[in-house]
Amino acid sequence: MIAQLKNVKKEYQGLQVLDGISFVLQPGEIVCLLGPSGSGKTTLLNIMAGLLPADDGECWITDKVSYVFQEDRLLPWKTLLENILFVKAEREVETARAILAKLGLIDFCNYYPAELSGGMKQRAAIARAFYAGGDLFLMDEPFQSLDVELRLRLIKELISLWEVKRNTILFVTHNLEEAILLGHRILVLSDGPAKIKKEFKVEMAPADRVPEDFKELKQEMERCLAVVD
Ligand code: ADP
Ligand code: MG
Repeated sequence: MIAQLKNVKKEYQGLQVLDGISFVLQPGEIVCLLGPSGSGKTTLLNIMAGLLPADDGECWITDKVSYVFQEDRLLPWKTLLENILFVKAEREVETARAILAKLGLIDFCNYYPAELSGGMKQRAAIARAFYAGGDLFLMDEPFQSLDVELRLRLIKELISLWEVKRNTILFVTHNLEEAILLGHRILVLSDGPAKIKKEFKVEMAPADRVPEDFKELKQEMERCLAVVD
């Protein structure tokens, strides 16, 4: 097992954000956590990463975690390649370059973050997580604010990186299509205070999926998100 949450609760100064979240993550699976903006997704990842204490419940997770934050968190004074390399004591330049090549960033190794587009910086943050490695990747809306075409391309790139080692990914998003294309399981959160209101399973291998095959599932998930409970 990679992670186990039991009835995790969190409030901020009287604002109840998480209202008893429970789930288990198994090795090798991609689980998408789908919820509207403000539903507590980042709060939950921060609790899992140990950056924030839960008020109640239990949260056990593997200690080999890589976190792709909602912001890219690149160091502005380091080049792209240096931003990747600094996360490990031992520099594995060839490994880093191979990951950057896979994400279409190899020609920009010596650029500084300010010289990169938003999409490139988000790809760099993903590259850094894969370079750091780990049993569990926490990814907080890494493709937000990208146009549809780039988003679809990056989903494919992410899946092909995942296929190398099949680390567990907990991928947080408010985008239905992303969840459908990536997740073996999709956990749908309610509006805050967040509970998991439904779990969807998608059997087809992520690499084989195209959005057109999942119109019905998308509608079902839209209905699920729209229901106020
Ligand atoms: P999401 O990532 O799903 O958009 P967040 O976890 O960022 O949601 O936030 C959930 C709710 O908690 C929001 O209403 C947000 O305003 C509130 N919140 C987040 N962080 C804090 C904080 N440090 N102090 C007070 N309220 C917060
Ligand atoms: Mg968030």
